[in-house]
Amino acid sequence: MEEEGSFLHMTAPTFHSSVDFTVHDWLKKFNATSLKPPDFREYWALNVPNIYSPRADMNCLNITFDEGLAKQVLFTPLERFICGCNETEKVFEEIKKIDSLPMLCGRVFKSREPTYSCRDCALDPTCVLCMDCFKNSAHNTHRYKMSMSGGGGYCDCGDEEAWKAHAYCEVHLQGKREMSSDSSPIERLPLDLIERIRILMGFVLSYCHEMLTWEQPISQPSDLCPSGFDTANEAHETYATMLFNDEIHTYDQVIHTLNRAIECTEKEATDYATMIDREGRSIVKCGNFQSCNQVRNIIERTNSRSGRKPLRVVVMHSSVIAHQIFAMKLLSWLKQILSYSEAFRIIFSQVMMESPTPGSPLLESIMLSDTQLWKAARNQWHQLFISGTLMDQQCKKTFARIFTHNYPLLMKDFIADDHEHSVSITSLSVQIFTVPTLAHYLIMEENAIYVLLRTFLTECERNRIDGKLSFERSQNIELFRRSQFVLFDLRYLLTVKPNEWNTSLRKNFLHGIQQLLNFLSWMQGMDSVVRQVGQHVEFEAEWETGVNLQSKLVPVITLVLDWCGSDRVVLVKALRAALKLLESIQGKMTTTVREVADHSSSCIEYDVSSMPVTIHLPLSRFVAGLILHLPKFDLTYSSPEFLIRNKPGPEELMELPLRTQVMIAQFRAGMWRRNGYSLLNQVFFYHNVRLRDEMLDRDIMMLQIAASLMESNKFLIHLLNKYGLLIWIGDTFDTSQRRTEDEYTRQTATIAEEFLGLLIIIISERYYPGVGNVTERDRVKKEIIQLLCIEPMTNSQLCKMLPKDPNHETGMENVVNEVADLKKTTDTSTGKYELKPEFYSCFNPFFYHYTREEQSKAEEVQLKRKKQTGEEECCPPPLPSEFSLPFSVIINLLQCDVMAHIMLVVLKRTLNLHSTSYSEGQFEKVLHIIGLALHEEQRQQEQKEEGGFFQFTKMAEKKGILADLEKCQGSPRVEAHKDLLNWTLRKFRSLQRSEGKAMEVDVEFPPENTASTSRKRDKKQNAQQAAARRARIMAQMSAMQKNFIKQHAQLLKEVDAEESSNQTESDIFVLEESSDDPVALGNLQRGKVISRQTHTCILCREEQEASLTGRTLVIGAFVQRSTVLSKNRNHRLEDPKEFNPLLISADLFCGPHTSTCGHVMHSDCWQKFFEAVVAKERRRPVRYGRHVSFNVDKQEFLCPLCECLCNTVIPLVPPITTLIVNNTEKPNNIKIDDWLFSHRKAVEKLQVQRFRALPSNDDQGEKILYRYKPTPLKEVMASLSTDSSEQFHSLYAVYAQQCAAGNNFPNSLLDMMRVFSQATYMVGLEAHPNPDDDRVPLMTWWSCAYTIHSIEWLLRDQKKSLFGDLSSRRAHCMQTLVRVVGASTSIFDAQVVRNHCVSLLQYLLLAEEHSCSSSCCLEVDAFTLLVFVCLSMPVLFTADDHESNSGLTFPVGGVNELYILHLVLVFHLVQIFLSIDFPFLEEAETSEAQHKETSEEVAVCHFYIEVLTAAGVENCKNPVNAQKLLKTIHQAMLPFLRCSALFFHFLTDVEAPKTLAGMHSEEYQFQALCWYLGLSTRLNEILQSPSLRQLALCWARHAQVYSMVNQETLQMDEEDAPPPRSIVVKHPISINQLVCLPSDYSELINNVSVFTCPNSDGEDSRSPTMCLVCGQILCSQSYCCQTELEGAMVGACTFHVQVCGAGVGIFLRIRDCKILLLVGKTKGCYMPPPYVDEYGETDQGLVRGNPLHLCKDKYRELHRLWLSHGIPEQVSHTLEQLPALTTTNWFLL
Ligand SMILES: [Zn+2]
Ligand SMILES: [Zn+2]
Ligand SMILES: [Zn+2]
Ligand SMILES: [Zn+2]
Ligand SMILES: [Zn+2]
Ligand SMILES: [Zn+2]
Ligand SMILES: [Zn+2]
Repeated sequence: MEEEGSFLHMTAPTFHSSVDFTVHDWLKKFNATSLKPPDFREYWALNVPNIYSPRADMNCLNITFDEGLAKQVLFTPLERFICGCNETEKVFEEIKKIDSLPMLCGRVFKSREPTYSCRDCALDPTCVLCMDCFKNSAHNTHRYKMSMSGGGGYCDCGDEEAWKAHAYCEVHLQGKREMSSDSSPIERLPLDLIERIRILMGFVLSYCHEMLTWEQPISQPSDLCPSGFDTANEAHETYATMLFNDEIHTYDQVIHTLNRAIECTEKEATDYATMIDREGRSIVKCGNFQSCNQVRNIIERTNSRSGRKPLRVVVMHSSVIAHQIFAMKLLSWLKQILSYSEAFRIIFSQVMMESPTPGSPLLESIMLSDTQLWKAARNQWHQLFISGTLMDQQCKKTFARIFTHNYPLLMKDFIADDHEHSVSITSLSVQIFTVPTLAHYLIMEENAIYVLLRTFLTECERNRIDGKLSFERSQNIELFRRSQFVLFDLRYLLTVKPNEWNTSLRKNFLHGIQQLLNFLSWMQGMDSVVRQVGQHVEFEAEWETGVNLQSKLVPVITLVLDWCGSDRVVLVKALRAALKLLESIQGKMTTTVREVADHSSSCIEYDVSSMPVTIHLPLSRFVAGLILHLPKFDLTYSSPEFLIRNKPGPEELMELPLRTQVMIAQFRAGMWRRNGYSLLNQVFFYHNVRLRDEMLDRDIMMLQIAASLMESNKFLIHLLNKYGLLIWIGDTFDTSQRRTEDEYTRQTATIAEEFLGLLIIIISERYYPGVGNVTERDRVKKEIIQLLCIEPMTNSQLCKMLPKDPNHETGMENVVNEVADLKKTTDTSTGKYELKPEFYSCFNPFFYHYTREEQSKAEEVQLKRKKQTGEEECCPPPLPSEFSLPFSVIINLLQCDVMAHIMLVVLKRTLNLHSTSYSEGQFEKVLHIIGLALHEEQRQQEQKEEGGFFQFTKMAEKKGILADLEKCQGSPRVEAHKDLLNWTLRKFRSLQRSEGKAMEVDVEFPPENTASTSRKRDKKQNAQQAAARRARIMAQMSAMQKNFIKQHAQLLKEVDAEESSNQTESDIFVLEESSDDPVALGNLQRGKVISRQTHTCILCREEQEASLTGRTLVIGAFVQRSTVLSKNRNHRLEDPKEFNPLLISADLFCGPHTSTCGHVMHSDCWQKFFEAVVAKERRRPVRYGRHVSFNVDKQEFLCPLCECLCNTVIPLVPPITTLIVNNTEKPNNIKIDDWLFSHRKAVEKLQVQRFRALPSNDDQGEKILYRYKPTPLKEVMASLSTDSSEQFHSLYAVYAQQCAAGNNFPNSLLDMMRVFSQATYMVGLEAHPNPDDDRVPLMTWWSCAYTIHSIEWLLRDQKKSLFGDLSSRRAHCMQTLVRVVGASTSIFDAQVVRNHCVSLLQYLLLAEEHSCSSSCCLEVDAFTLLVFVCLSMPVLFTADDHESNSGLTFPVGGVNELYILHLVLVFHLVQIFLSIDFPFLEEAETSEAQHKETSEEVAVCHFYIEVLTAAGVENCKNPVNAQKLLKTIHQAMLPFLRCSALFFHFLTDVEAPKTLAGMHSEEYQFQALCWYLGLSTRLNEILQSPSLRQLALCWARHAQVYSMVNQETLQMDEEDAPPPRSIVVKHPISINQLVCLPSDYSELINNVSVFTCPNSDGEDSRSPTMCLVCGQILCSQSYCCQTELEGAMVGACTFHVQVCGAGVGIFLRIRDCKILLLVGKTKGCYMPPPYVDEYGETDQGLVRGNPLHLCKDKYRELHRLWLSHGIPEQVSHTLEQLPALTTTNWFLL
C-alpha cells in the first residue's frame, strides 16, 4: 500500500488551459466541501452545445462530432477530478491492481450471442454461461444446451446460487481463491478519492437522468442555458426533427413516410428506418425551426392517414439534443469507470439508492421513467444497472427490493407502452427473481407473490364479465398479452421451493396464494359452451386467449402445488381456502335419486347436452392437486382439519371435471358438430401434451379421488347418470323399435364406449406418483413405452411428445435406455428409438394420453407385430402398477353390483344377434375391464391374502358373467376379438383353479401351447387358403393397376424415368476386329463400337432411332454459368460484351456448364410442349404469382417426365463415324516436325479477309470485320518435300471427302443445334440472342470442354474410375454434347471457324505472335485449347467461297488429331514444369540413391531444366531428383489425359478400354491413358521432335511467365498487395472443396459472434450467413446490407451470389443453423444443415439446443451437390414441391 501517495499527491497548479483551471477550481471547492452541482453544470452549459450540437449542414445519416475535443474538454477533466491529478491512466492502473480477480463473470450478453446452460447443474434454464466460462468449466462434458441470448442478460459464472454444482469456471475459481475477505473494497482506496467519485457520480447521474427525460424540446433547464441563449431569436438557432421508433409501424411504412417527408432515396430512407429501429430515434432533418417543423407536419400527416397512432416526431432545439447526446456518452463513460474497481461499483449502487432531493431514491426515479426513454437510452441505463448494481450481493438485494416495491407501476407502464419486453426495465426481473434466496426474501419482506398477482389481477379486471374472464374475438388483446409477463416473473419467483418454512414466509405465501385462488376462480368456467342444436354456430367463439393463458399458467400452478406440498401448515390452509372458494362459486346443487341394480344414489342434476360446459376448471384441478399431497402428512379429505361449513362432498368435487368428460364423449359421438372449430381446438388442447398436466390429468385424478371416497355402486350410478346412460343400461333399451342406423342409437353406443373407456382409465391409470405406488421415473417410462408402441421415434419426436416440467425437462434421458434402443439404418440416417421387446407386454391400448389416431395406429401396429411373431392377435390389458393406499379401494369398482350389471348388459347384447345397441367397442372394453379385474385377483392371490376382499371370479361366476363369456365364444360377432376372449377365459379358469386348490401348481397352459397345436392342424389348410387369397389379390391389384396407369399417367413418371434410362435397346456390333486394347487416335486407331440406339419420346411415346432420316430427337438440358471449378475467385467475367473466349483461362474461373436429365423427345413434340408451357405461364394471372420454380422468360421449363430444370435442348446427332461416307483412310506417315512446319507455313503469312458485317440490332453503324485465313493448301504443299507434301495433302483430303459428301442433315436437326449453341452463348455471356456473333462456336465448344472438366472432377472426387463408374446420365450427356460439337461445322460459318483456327495456330506455332499475345502459356487451359483446335482444324483448308456452311467436316481421330494432342500435351507439360515445386534431390537420397537413371528420366530432366532456364526461373542449386520428377509429371498430367480420353472416346466411338474401367494406381492410369490416346508412354519419345522442344522454350520465354512464376514469392512480402490478375494453377489441378467447417457448432457461433455488420458501424448482424464456397460471412436478410443490383435492392447473399457463384450459391445461416441455396435473384430453398446432435438429428433453427457436431458424410453430400452443379435443379425441385402460394422473397436474403 505504499504507493498510495503517488496518486494522492497534488501537483502544483500550472494552468495550460481553461480545462486545467476548471479542474483546479473543482478540486479546490471539493477540499473546501463547497462543491455543488452548478460548478459542473455551468461548465457543461458552456461547452456541451459547442461540441455535441447537430449542425444544419450535417448528413443526418452519419452524424459525427469532434470526439477528440470532447475527450479533452468534457471527459478528461472529470477523470482528473476523480484522480486528483493529471496522470489519470496511471492512477486507474493502480486502482485496477488493487482489485482482486473477479469471482463473478457477469459478462453482459449482446443480442444473439451464444449462451450455454447445463442441464445437469443449472438451477433452472435461465442460468447461463458465456462461451469463455463454458469452455473453461466442467459443464462442457455434461448435458449442456446452447441457445442465443436475447440480449441484456449476463453470465452467471461464479454465482453459487445459480448452480447445483460447478458454479465456477477455472478463471473465476481463481478469483474465489484469491478473494481477500479482510477488508471491504472501499476501504482499500483512499478516502478522498472515494469521496470525489461519490460526489461526482451523484452530479453526473442526476444530470443524465434529468436530460434524458427532459420533455421540453425547445428549451433547456435554465441553469444549462449559456448566456446569450434566446428562444425568441429562433431564426438563428439550429433545430432538428427527431423521429422516434414504435412497434406499431412497419419498416415499410416508416420508409414510405420518410421518402415523402425529406425527399430522400429509398436507400437513405431504409438507412433511417434501420437506425430508428436500432437506436429508438433518429434526427431526420436539421435546419431552422420552420423547415424542421415542416418535415414534422408532413410526417404526421402522411401517417395519420393510415388511421393508426401517428409516428412520434418532435422538433428539438440543438442544445437540448447536445445535452442528451452528452448524457448518453457520460453513461458509457461511467460504465467504463465502473469496470475499474469493485469499490466504484459499490459507490455507484449507494449513490443510486440515495435520493438527490427529498423523495424517492434516484434508482426509483430512473426505473419509473423507463418508458419515457427511447431504446438506446433505456439500454444504457439497464446495462449500467447490471454491471453496476447486480454484481454485488448487497446492492442486488437493495435493487431487488426497490424493483419489487415498484413492480406494479413498472408493469403498468410496460403494458401501456409498445416496446418489446426485452427493452423494458421489467425484463430485469429474471436477474433477481430467479435467485432462490432473493426470491424467498422478497416473498417474505416485500410480499412479492401477492404484489405480482395483485398487479396481474388488476390488469385482468378489464377483461372480466360477471366475475369471469372473458375475451372477445374483436377485442384488442395486446394489453392482456403484455400483462401475462407477470406469470413468467411469478414462475421465476417459485423456481425453487424453500427447504425450511418460517412464519412470515408461510403468511405471505398464503397471502399470495389467496390471490392465485381468486384468479383461478375467475377462470373457472370461462369460455363455456352450450351445445348448438339446429343451426351451426354463426361466429367461432374466441378460445385462443384462454388456452394461451392456461399454457402460461401451467408451470406456475405446478410449482405452487409443489410448494404447498412441502409444508403441512401451508397445505392445510391452502386446501381450506381453496375448498371454501370452490364451495362459494359452485353453490348448492340440486339432486335427484337414481337407481340401478338395486342400488340408489342421489345424483346432481345437470344436463351436459343442453347446459353450459367448459374445459377451464383450474380451481377444481388445483384442489385435486392439493388433495394428492394429503397422505404425505397423514391427512385425509375427512380429517378434522378440513371441517368447514358446506364442505363439498366427493360428488360435488368431481361434478365439473365429470361434465367435461361427458362433453368430450358427446363431442366424439358427433353431438357437438355444430359448435364449430372453436370447440374442436379446445378439445385438442385439453389433451395436448403442453397443457394436459394441469387439465386432463388433474380431471382424471379428481375422478379417482372421488371414486376412492365414494361407495363404488353410487359412484358408478353418478357416472351413468351424467353420461345419460341410465336408459341405455335398462332392459327396455334394446327394443325392436330401435334401428342401428338411427342417430340416437349410434350416438348412445359411442357414448357408452366412451363411458367404458373412462372406467378403464379410472381403474388402470396409476402412473402418477401419489395415485399409484410409482416414482417419477416410472411415469416417464410408461409414457415412453406407450409412445414407442405407436412407432419407433427419433429423440426429438419423443421429446416433443413427452410432458415437460417447469424447467422444460422431460426426464427422458434417465430412463429411455432402460426401455428402448437407439437404432440407425445407415451412417447418415437419424437414429430412432425402438422399444425393447420385453416391454411390448406393457402396452395398454386404451392409454389415456393417446389421441384416437394414435390409439388405432398403435393397436394396429401391435397386432401386426404379434401376428409376425406368432403370438395371439390381441392386446389384453397389461398388469397395472399398484394403487397407493388411499386409492386402493378403487379396484372395488370392478366387482360391485352395478359394474356386474353393466358387464352383463353388454355381454347379453353381444349374444343377442338382434340387438341394435351392440357395438364391437363396448364388447372389447368390457373384456378389457374383466381382464383388469382378473389381474387384480391374481395379484391378491400372489400376495397370498387368503379370503381377500377382492373376489371377482366368484362374483362373475355367480352372476352368470362367466357363462355369458363362454357363450360368446360361439358368437359370429366376436370374430375380431376371439383371441382376446380366449385370453380372458383362460385367465379366468386358471384363477378359479388356483383359487380352489390354492397350494397346487399353476396349471395354466401357456398360451403359446394351445395356439401352436391348433396352428399345426390348420397349417396345410391355411397354406392353401393363403395361396388362393394371394392369387385373388394379385389379380385384383393388376386390374386396379391398369386402371390406375390410365388415370394417373402423370404419377408414373418416376417409374418411367427408370425405364427410359435402361430402355435404350442397343444391339452392339463391332466395326473392326480388335485383338488388342482399343486405340482412339492416329494410324493405329482401332476398336470402334457403334451402338444403335432407339429411344421412346416421352411426350408421344413413339419409338425413334437417332438418325439423319428419322424425326429429330432432343434431350432437355440446362446450361448455367458456373464458377464451381474456379481456382481464382478474384477472377471474374467483368465485361461479357468484350470477352473473347478464344484462349480460356487456366484457372477455369467461369464457364457455361451443361447438364441434362437424358429424357428424349421429338424436337417437334418438344417445341409444341414448350410453346404450351410459355402460353400457360403468360396466361397465369399476376396476382397468383408466376411459377417460381422456372422462368419462361429465360427459356426455362421443367422436363415433362422428371421435372428436372431445363433451359434448352441438345439434339441427338447420329454417331459421327456412321456419317463418314467414304472411309478409305490410309495410314499417314507424316512426321510431326513436318506437320508442325507445314502448319506454321499455313498461318505465318497474314491472309486477311475483310467484309462488312450485317448491322446488328443494338448499333446502327456498319461494322467492318476482319477474319484471317490460311495460306492456300497448294502454296503450303509447295514448300514441302514431295513425300511430305503428299502426306500433308492426304491429311486434309479426308476432311474434303466428308465435305464433298455434302450436307444431308435435316433442317430440324440443324435448328436444334442452333438452339443449343445459342443457349450456351446467351447464358455464358449473359447476352441477347445473336446467331451471327463470331463467339457462338467458341461458346458452344467451351461448354463441352467445361462440362467434361467438371465431370472429370466429379469422378476424381468420388474416387471413381474414368469409364467404369460413369453414370449413364452423365455418359449420355457427354456423348450428346461431343457429337453436337463434333458436327458443329454444319451450322457455323466456315470462315468464322477458320478464323478461330488460324488464330489458335498462330498463338501456338508462331514465336513472334505468341510473345505478343496477352496470355502466356500458364494462363491458358490446355484441354479447352485441345478441343478448340481439334474442332476447328477440319475447315482450315476447305474451299473458300462466301457461302456459309459450305460443307460438313468432322474430326475423326486420325493423325491430325493425334499431332494436335502431341502439340497441346507439350504445351501442358510446360505448364506443369513451371508450376510444380522444384523436386530437389535431398541429401539423404544423394548418398543412397544408387538408382540408375533411365534414358527417359535423363531426357525429361534435361528438358525440364531447359524450360526453366528459358522462363528465367532461378536455377537449381541441388541436382534434380529425376525419378521423382518423372513421377510427379505423370501424376500432374492425369486430369488432362483423362479429359482427353473422355472427349476422344465420345468423338471417335472407339470403345473404352477395360484398363480404364477399374480403379488403378496413378502410374497404371497414366500408361493406360497414353495407350488409349495413341501416345507413347515414354515422354522422351514425345519430346524427340526438335520443333516441339523449340516451341516449348518459346512458350516459356513469354514475359508474363517470369512475373507469374515469381509472383508467389513477391506476394508473401506484401500482404496487402492487390490480388493478382492471374495465378499459377498447380497441376494436377486440385478439386475445389466447400470451406472447412469446425467440428463443434458452438465454435462456429462463437466465431461469428464477433462478426459485425459491415454497414452499421460495429453493430451486430441479425442473420450472419457464411458463403460455403469462399467462406465470406455476410449480413443477410437485413435492410442495412442491401445493395442495388440491376435496379433493385437485394440482400447481401443475393448480391454475393452474383459475384462469387455466377448466380448460384450455397450458404450456411449460422444463427438458425440452416443451409440456404440461392439461384439467381428469385429462387432459393432451405436444406438441413450438416450439423447433427448425438442422436444424428439436425436442429434447424436451433430449437432444441443440443450440442451439435459436424457430420462429415452429410457435408460431403452437400459438397457433391455443389460440385455436380446440382443446386439449380435442387432448388427448382424443392420449390415445385412447396404448397402453392408460399412465397419467400429470396432476393432479400
Ligand atoms: Zn462468463
Ligand atoms: Zn467464469
Ligand atoms: Zn454441469
Ligand atoms: Zn414425340
Ligand atoms: Zn427428365
Ligand atoms: Zn448489415
Ligand atoms: Zn462466396
